Amino acid sequence: MIRRGLVARGIAWAGAIVLLGATSLRAQGKLSPKWEELTAADFRLGIQQSKGTCLLPFGILEKHGPHLPLGTDLLNVRYASLQAVAMEYAILFPEYYFGQIFEAKHEPGTVAYSLELQLKLLQETTDEMARNGCKKIVIVNGHGGNAHLLPLFGQAQMDKPHDYVVYVLDGARSRPGGPVKRSAGIDYHAGENETANTMVSHPDLVHLDRAASESGADQKRLNLPEDVYTGIWWYARFPNHYSGDGSVAAKELGEWNMKNWVAAVVEAIRAAKADEQSLTIQNEFYEKSKHPLDTRP
Ligand SMILES: [Zn+2]
Repeated sequence: MIRRGLVARGIAWAGAIVLLGATSLRAQGKLSPKWEELTAADFRLGIQQSKGTCLLPFGILEKHGPHLPLGTDLLNVRYASLQAVAMEYAILFPEYYFGQIFEAKHEPGTVAYSLELQLKLLQETTDEMARNGCKKIVIVNGHGGNAHLLPLFGQAQMDKPHDYVVYVLDGARSRPGGPVKRSAGIDYHAGENETANTMVSHPDLVHLDRAASESGADQKRLNLPEDVYTGIWWYARFPNHYSGDGSVAAKELGEWNMKNWVAAVVEAIRAAKADEQSLTIQNEFYEKSKHPLDTRP
């Protein structure tokens, strides 16, 4: 009896503490946005506070010229996403870098999972996020090579019913305006923009003195019409997996880019939170797709 009494009182106390904790945490906005840092109980509060909105920042492991780290895209997308969720709360999924990067398999340090695994892992990841209450999942893309993968993944959500919505925010690498660029021409990968961004996110990992030791020039080795696509195009033009000139990068440009990137992520989180239509229309579509002969104009 005594034990039961103690246990009951203990539970009551624990309940009061949880309630107090919940109130003060919510009042102070002190919940960590990072999935892996939350306790199970705080995760529940995080889902409430975020209105079921979660971010999946998507990076990659690949060479970034002679001067930037392999994880540049992962590091930068997480930096921008963390700044964004500090302004507009959403739960941030842990490090994710299982994307499309076949074109860099000839370079050291590239991790290129099979296409089947990329799609399966991403689907199971968003399914698991949704099962835990993330009904609005914003994939924040930090890697150019995912521009092939993510629209397909987004479209593939129409195949089977899901009780959640996937939004894809493509990478925002540069915006009009801001500091005048010092390099001219193409700046796709590890060039002035991306180097400048990394000087903001992880200045200690930028080896600017090595940036001119390889060429990031377009080698123009293909001669095809613009509307004809072939997978080797990237390697044909940029065989060093470097595009642009990182050696002239300055922090001011990175600050401008990052500020705009963060603003785009904040805008996407707010739009997802406010979006009541997508899931309703998805459900209408899934229902109709079970019996297409009944669909009338
Ligand atoms: Zn990159």
